[in-house]
Amino acid sequence: MGNEIIIIGNSFSGLGAAITFAKYGHKITIIAPKNNSELLGGLQIAPNTFRALSSLGLENEIVSQADRLLAVDIKAFDIGSSLTNISLLKTKAPYLSMAREDLHQILLNLCLRNPLIEFIHSKVKSISHQLNVTKLILDNDEIITAPFIIGADGWDGKTRHFVNSSASQINSDYSIYRSVFPSSKVPNGFSYPNVQLWLGESCHLVSYPIRKGNDINFVFAFSKKTFPKSSIQSIFSDHPVLLALGEKPEKWHRTNIKICEPLFNWRRGSVTLIGDAAHPMPPHLAQGAGQSFMDVECIETELSKGSSVSDALKNMVKSRMSESYSVTRKSQISGNIFRMNGPLAILRNQIIGIAGQKIINEFLHDLWISD
Ligand SMILES: Cc1cc2nc3c(=O)[nH]c(=O)nc-3n(C[C@H](O)[C@H](O)[C@H](O)COP(=O)(O)OP(=O)(O)OC[C@H]3O[C@@H](n4cnc5c(N)ncnc54)[C@H](O)[C@@H]3O)c2cc1C
Repeated sequence: MGNEIIIIGNSFSGLGAAITFAKYGHKITIIAPKNNSELLGGLQIAPNTFRALSSLGLENEIVSQADRLLAVDIKAFDIGSSLTNISLLKTKAPYLSMAREDLHQILLNLCLRNPLIEFIHSKVKSISHQLNVTKLILDNDEIITAPFIIGADGWDGKTRHFVNSSASQINSDYSIYRSVFPSSKVPNGFSYPNVQLWLGESCHLVSYPIRKGNDINFVFAFSKKTFPKSSIQSIFSDHPVLLALGEKPEKWHRTNIKICEPLFNWRRGSVTLIGDAAHPMPPHLAQGAGQSFMDVECIETELSKGSSVSDALKNMVKSRMSESYSVTRKSQISGNIFRMNGPLAILRNQIIGIAGQKIINEFLHDLWISD
């Protein structure tokens, strides 16, 4: 007879954890609003992410829907002149990209088909812990509890604050615009099956194809100090190549990047954090969802060895805290490099031009699992 487990959040880490626990006979209740509004645009699925997703048995379905990316083209932001090109063909697992919505749907369908998984479409309003019992108070004032509660409600969720009452996030100087364009409507060059990284002065642009090359996902990150006129139209209006992308500003969605302190405690009462709730990281390495799937893979490995749910969660926290912290640090370092301006940005671009392939392959070796 399996345990009863509540999972808060129905995005990548929540659904992934539900599929894994249900595989070992545990009864899952997922609490989350019915519609996930955060499924805009694409996700890069780096080789470590693909391996973690394979632990859920999803490799064939993902390969059939994803785009295989062949290289990272690093370019200067001025006119998109090439600095270097890093092949993604030597990685030991494929480097893919996919529409967020499509990956989410694959996970959701698996959950909906599983009789051990049920959904409560609501939000957790607050969490209390008294006399050793952790209780969840839902939006409709219903109170529920279970011996194990998984906090998969993201970097700004209730569980992160319940486990670490002093957990804080502050606004950074950086903002992000995201959009998806049909590939027929983008300037030449963006529709290659490559990641494009254009490095500018306190700004960078990332693009890659999704939906079998029919769409191109764009993310533009910039410093609000350097671009005080921060509409996408004004930023792209002087750019010889990107001008056309800024013409429909309503297509771009803006988010401010928050800086979250790393947590060194992922458990309180019945609650264990996973995914962004445990290790939010800046998006510069495209690893956030990947690290969430690695939490799930770690739980799967533990359960497959016969560990109890309690031990599986304890051991997941033990091994994943330092691993995810190291990736968070790498993400922060990448962000600092992307953010350079003036002479430092010129020097950065020169170094990338001369030695970028070697430096980047070594820096990302454990994520890209390259030869
Ligand atoms: C611009 C950008 C680009 C990115 N690109 C990549 C990429 O290419 N590759 C990659 O691996 N990662 C990428 N990431 C990171 C990735 O999006 C996140 O790491 C990932 O979404 C985390 O998944 P999660 O399930 O832990 O949390 P979330 O996706 O944040 O989901 C949290 C869930 O909790 C639910 N929830 C919240 N509060 C409550 C509540 N009170 N009660 C019930 N439910 C609640 C929400 O509805 C949601 O379903 C990117 C992030 C950004 C910002």
